[in-house]
Amino acid sequence: MRVVEHAPLQSFNTFHVAANARYLVTLESPDELTAFLADSRFSGLPLFVLGGGSNLLLTGDFAGVMLCPRFMGREVLSQEVERVRLRACAGESWDGFVDWAVAQGFAGLENLSCIPGHVGAAPVQNIGAYGVELQDVVERVEALDLSTGAAVSFTRDDCQFAYRDSVFKRNPGRYLITAVVFSLAGKFAPRLDYPGVPAALAAQQDEGPLSPARVRQAICAVRYGKLPDPAVLGNAGSFFKNPLVSQSLADSLKGEYASMPVYPAAAGLAKIPAAWLIEQCGFKGYRAGDAGVHEKHALVLVNYGQATGAELWALAEKIRLAVRQRFGVELEPEPNRL
Ligand SMILES: Cc1cc2nc3c(=O)[nH]c(=O)nc-3n(C[C@H](O)[C@H](O)[C@H](O)COP(=O)(O)OP(=O)(O)OC[C@H]3O[C@@H](n4cnc5c(N)ncnc54)[C@H](O)[C@@H]3O)c2cc1C
Repeated sequence: MRVVEHAPLQSFNTFHVAANARYLVTLESPDELTAFLADSRFSGLPLFVLGGGSNLLLTGDFAGVMLCPRFMGREVLSQEVERVRLRACAGESWDGFVDWAVAQGFAGLENLSCIPGHVGAAPVQNIGAYGVELQDVVERVEALDLSTGAAVSFTRDDCQFAYRDSVFKRNPGRYLITAVVFSLAGKFAPRLDYPGVPAALAAQQDEGPLSPARVRQAICAVRYGKLPDPAVLGNAGSFFKNPLVSQSLADSLKGEYASMPVYPAAAGLAKIPAAWLIEQCGFKGYRAGDAGVHEKHALVLVNYGQATGAELWALAEKIRLAVRQRFGVELEPEPNRL
């Protein structure tokens, strides 16, 4: 266990916002949790489990413990014609894991390529992209219950996955995910029905048969073309979830705004792209000091340099208010705010 007191967090969040944590504690193995829970320095302090900090907005210093699991390792548990089972530890890079799986020809993860962050965070908001969600490929999540220190195993049903949501997201600070077990169909069933993907595939030099590797390459090309690289421009990806509204509200808005995209969602609800709503309110490319909305993607808030977390949050609130006033739709932020 490594402990840093009054730790600077600027390099631990992809917004690159400056803030400190009272303690930054790194665990190299799940066994170290016992020592952590017994350490009186940390008792009674608020606790936040930190992965790669790519879904996090720090609006001030954190007067608690940032607990960083750095458990490493990934393996093929079983490989049969019908099914492949993989296991990856929480501290592995998510995209490094996807790359490793795809390089071996395993299918099912390729649409989730190039999402920043660690494996341990992926179940928390049920990461999703290009028509695939984590819940489509998860068999089991291994975790430690931080209230007791006991090891717990969650089946996919136990995880209560929903759009950008799970039992882990709804109980912040309760569970420390240690590893994820994946169950992939042995047969490659490409999902290409997403704008930009067929064109990116067609633009590839490689004219060999369609493979998970080629789909991964296409997805990465589409993503790099429209999303800013956090290493260059601080951001946390999509800042708002796509709102789910009643069908009657969607119908009445569609009557007023014929060009508004609407997609069917679960439980008879309708999904409206948050980016469209934000763009209609004139925020695409908007900038207030160093806090701004990306010029190519209205859903991505960016830190042009020295923006504070509070400034970025104020901008998010301004956008929410504008969308609420114009459309009567409530936008919900996706990143965790601390
Ligand atoms: C450029 C960019 C593009 C993105 N694109 C997408 C996308 O397409 N789809 C998508 O879904 N997301 C996307 N994201 C958001 C983000 O990458 C994901 O949510 C990712 O899973 C966060 O991983 P992290 O390790 O950085 O988590 P963090 O930001 O460190 O933490 C996120 C949450 O997970 C919890 N957590 C982290 N590790 C653990 C653990 N081991 N145990 C328990 N809880 C834990 C934290 O407490 C927090 O609640 C994007 C972000 C960026 C910057």
